[in-house]
Amino acid sequence: MKRSLLLALILAILPRAAAAQHPLAEGGPYDPAVPTPRSVLGYELGDRFTPHHLLHRYFERVAEASPRVRLDTMAVSFEGREVLLAVVTSEANQRRLDEIRADARRLADPRGASATELERIVARMPALVWLGYTVHGNEGSGVEAAIAMLYQLAAGQDAETRMILDSAVVLIDPVQNPDGHERHVQDVMRARGALGIPTTPGAMVHQGNWPGGRTSHYLFDLNRDWFIHSHPETRGRVARFLDWAPHVAVDLHEMGSNSTYFFAPPMEPFNKNVHSSILKWWDIYAASNAEAFDRHGWSYFRREGYDEFYPGYGVSWPILTGAVGMTYEQASSAGGAIRRRDGTVLTLREAASHHYAAAWATARTSAARRTERVRDYLEFRRSAVTDAERGAMRAIVFEPDAQGRADSLAARLRANGIEVRRLAAAAEARDATPYGEATAGRVRFPAGAYVVDLAQPQGRLAKALLEPDAQLDSTFIAEELESRRTGRSNRFYDVTAWSLPYTYRVRAWWTRTVPGPLEPEATSPATVASPALATARYGYAFEAGSEAAIRMLAGLLADGVRVWYAPRAFRSGEHAFPHGAFVVRVAANGDDVHETVRRLAAESGARVVALGSALVDEGTDLGSNSVFPVRPPRVALVGGDGVSAYSFGFAWFAFDQRIRYPVTTVRLASLPGLLEEFDVVVLPSAQPGAIDRQLGDGGREALAAWVRAGGTLITLDGATAWLAAERTGLSRLRLSRDTARADGEPGAPLPASVPGAIVRAVGDTLSPLLAGIHDPVFPVFVDGSEIYGVPKDLRPGEAVIRYEAEPRLRLAGYLWPEVPARLAGTPYLWTERVGRGRVIGFAQDPNFRDLWRGLLPLFANAVFFGPSM
Ligand SMILES: [Zn+2]
Repeated sequence: MKRSLLLALILAILPRAAAAQHPLAEGGPYDPAVPTPRSVLGYELGDRFTPHHLLHRYFERVAEASPRVRLDTMAVSFEGREVLLAVVTSEANQRRLDEIRADARRLADPRGASATELERIVARMPALVWLGYTVHGNEGSGVEAAIAMLYQLAAGQDAETRMILDSAVVLIDPVQNPDGHERHVQDVMRARGALGIPTTPGAMVHQGNWPGGRTSHYLFDLNRDWFIHSHPETRGRVARFLDWAPHVAVDLHEMGSNSTYFFAPPMEPFNKNVHSSILKWWDIYAASNAEAFDRHGWSYFRREGYDEFYPGYGVSWPILTGAVGMTYEQASSAGGAIRRRDGTVLTLREAASHHYAAAWATARTSAARRTERVRDYLEFRRSAVTDAERGAMRAIVFEPDAQGRADSLAARLRANGIEVRRLAAAAEARDATPYGEATAGRVRFPAGAYVVDLAQPQGRLAKALLEPDAQLDSTFIAEELESRRTGRSNRFYDVTAWSLPYTYRVRAWWTRTVPGPLEPEATSPATVASPALATARYGYAFEAGSEAAIRMLAGLLADGVRVWYAPRAFRSGEHAFPHGAFVVRVAANGDDVHETVRRLAAESGARVVALGSALVDEGTDLGSNSVFPVRPPRVALVGGDGVSAYSFGFAWFAFDQRIRYPVTTVRLASLPGLLEEFDVVVLPSAQPGAIDRQLGDGGREALAAWVRAGGTLITLDGATAWLAAERTGLSRLRLSRDTARADGEPGAPLPASVPGAIVRAVGDTLSPLLAGIHDPVFPVFVDGSEIYGVPKDLRPGEAVIRYEAEPRLRLAGYLWPEVPARLAGTPYLWTERVGRGRVIGFAQDPNFRDLWRGLLPLFANAVFFGPSM
């Protein structure tokens, strides 16, 4: 298989007499009107990683040349790249594509349709096969396989290609993460010499640069984003997916270079909402993949390594909608050709060939068995309704809140294709179990409460996202306990809890019956036109806590407006602020303050009121000494080598997209020389040793001196373990000793690392860090093994948030048996004064995946109040 670059170049330049081909399959004959990959890219598929502009060009050229292909743009990425979807089918199917789409949607929601009508649709319905490639940008063989797939389907004249086109619509999403993929392509291209690729695994061409190509622009894993929708790539993709309602969805990845090939069925655990009909189809597709691979003597495996528990993967989300979702994993060729432990060299072309073969086998099987697949899909959508009608958990109810979190949650659910309705009037339920409790009781829901009836075609996804706790098999748990006892690693692949009412911090219940009366149809949250804001004589006030208020404050501070925080209750005329407010004093700002406040209120959606006087009717006067100025912080967000790309990205996203406050991103190694430019430094998660290495002794001392001189240092997750180290010299916080491996021996019991659970925490509501959070008990995310001890000389206001006491601790997800006792009462959020400055340590990452919208005020408060407390 080895071929020198020179030979490759010669072959690429020489005109070929034979029918144009692509090198990933023996095919033909081909329609000469459709451009080959080589003719547009300038190289043979597999010789190079294809950059986005060439991929885009090729897809456009093929769509222009072939009546079998329509090209759609699903989204534009944060960096401005188009997220493409090629819709490929026979000319006859292309002519009736609108009818096919309407049929697909009818099958997706069969309620009210007659059996005859549905049977007629099943008979004429092609299988809809969604192929998603390279969601992790550095898993580049997918893109090359997608190009080959497009060419084969657009140009192939053989019987098999025609059969697929007649009986299926193939939806090709060639690069799910264009920003990350381009980063990978550029990393490799820059490290690639003229004489071929060095195959040494540690060579630069295989290593990439921080942060690597796996993630999106904001360094998110888009293969966790399918229900969270933080990125335009996901929003566009999910909208298109709901529109097409595909019957099969394949997500093509790469894994370690020394591996072979993986396809479904996955390993345990499976989410309990995965329907048994999916398991049958996993075996059907596995058999056809195995046959395709056995023909070449290629190796593969199933049921190991990749689970089906978290609902935000690119296959689990489709599975919960009724598609047969399957992960395909190919060993990575890294920079394009890498030597493996067995001495063989794995090339990009081989890797792409495997993906091509598996996707082709899947398309062929879907086409050949289309009626059976479509009928099972229909049955899935029908039984989602009837199963929930019979089930114990029939509906989820959540209460609207003054800060708009329930409205945001409802909007997010609707974007997931889930029907959400509202109570037309207050309603009493006798069978409502509050989230976090075990027993049902009588509850009076207010008018306008949101109701999700799980008896709907999208009900299995709705249940997976909303149920209080995702169930894990007891056998699975027993096996994991035994593995851990004997020092083996566990099979928890991702977090074990994500229940959205907790992450959005809304009050929720599940019920056995559907409360009513419901409003006639799904309505958007009423957009109350806010009355024109009067010109204030004394000032403007708005409450803390909502995302709108956070953006309002951020906008004011960024525009240089002076803002105060009044932490105590007051009432001014008809406007009551039971938890205090931010106040913009007119006299302390320029004349243009009125216009600025009006503009920012409109942009942010914050409810701002005009105040005529510092004198209040009830509560604390607005000139009180308790009212303090919020200084606009100059913020550094630290990234680069040594820092967790995810944690950095989550914080960057929070600043840019949620808070909308400018930050300066700096490398950890450069931070010491830049400190005087900043008031707040946010240090995302990192290994303590890595922070010390990047900073060096001098850098660590410079950072400590900067804090003592008045700086605010905010540490997240792993960086808080660094803050808690004695030699850092900035905090009395310390890691608990029993979170390390029991002894250094291999095979000794492993530390109890929590696989992403949800627990209760108790907050000090008098701390400015909890401004806008009025309920002292709320859910937080806990992940990993770090647990901190509170010092004996604890002072008021330091342990701002602590984990709840043991019996009330756990809400959702898995905690190892000893974790509750160790975690209970320990700090989640810590702050202390250091000289004239302050440190604020989060034991966990509040910005995790943009999933924990309910914790956004904590992070924003740390940034804005840190220097002013
Ligand atoms: Zn992957």
